This record gives sequence, C-alpha cells and structure tokens, in this order.
Amino acid sequence: MPRRCTVCAHPATHAIDKALVAGEPYRSVANRYESLSQAAVQRHEENHLPALLAKAKEAEEVAHADDLLADVRGLQARTLAILEAAEETSEHRIALSAIREARSNLELLAKLLGELDERPVVNLNISPEWLELRTVIVGALGPYRDARESVLSAIEGVGNGHTR
Ligand SMILES: [Zn+2]
Repeated sequence: MPRRCTVCAHPATHAIDKALVAGEPYRSVANRYESLSQAAVQRHEENHLPALLAKAKEAEEVAHADDLLADVRGLQARTLAILEAAEETSEHRIALSAIREARSNLELLAKLLGELDERPVVNLNISPEWLELRTVIVGALGPYRDARESVLSAIEGVGNGHTR
C-alpha cells in the first residue's frame, strides 16, 4: 500500500507549498509543523510540488487571459465610441486613428480568443483599407444626408458579404 503523503494531507499544505516555493529549507519547514518529517517534506517537494505548480500556473494563465480579454473589450468599446463621435463631426484624422486602434484591438482580441486564423482570409469588415475608405466616403457625404444614408445602407450590405 503506497504511503500517504503527510504534507499533501496536512491542513497547512498550502502554507507549506508556499514556503517550499519560496525556497525555505526542508528542515526549517518540517520544524515548523510538528507532525512533519524532513524526509516527508523533501518527498513532497520532489514528487508532488511540480504538478501542483503546473496546475496553479495554468489557472493563473487562464485568469490572466480573462483579465486581458475584459481589458481589450473595454478598450474596444471606448475606441468605437471615439470613432463614432469623430465620424459624426467629420474629424477624419481622429476617425482614422480610432480605426487603426480598433483594428489592433480586434487582432489582440482574436489572438486572445485563440481564433486568429493564420490563413489569409479577406474580411472586409476589419480590412483597414476598407474601413479608411468607408470613413472617407461617409465623411465626404456628410452634408448630403439622404445620399449619406443610402450609401451607408449599401455599404452595410457589402460589409456583410452581400451585394444589393
Ligand atoms: Zn505531497
């Protein structure tokens, strides 16, 4: 019957792991907890700690990726708000930099989501040339409300992959 690891079973196992990770000597760790032998602490560090650390690192990475995702999404929402405001006031220069920002936000988001396809795929909605052109067209039509509306709705159709 395999011997139970007294460290894994110890109520203070978390604190012990932390001490070991911090590089505290086996003897000093074992001395702090009455029921532990130095050999048991050493066995635990050699046989059990690596797997625990790998698991902790993975959990940390997942949490970190979630944090980043939320950050980038927040950033994107702000960027798009700026883009909208700039388009409304025909501030093309600001609109164009907002578009560039939005594009790199999207790339980062895609990477974080693991959805970035390495193959060249034409996606008109995130093509920078298209977005810049779209802004210029919409800006130029600013004073002509009706024309602007019909161009915009035609553009939306193209952007969705349909032609009207
Ligand atoms: Zn153990």
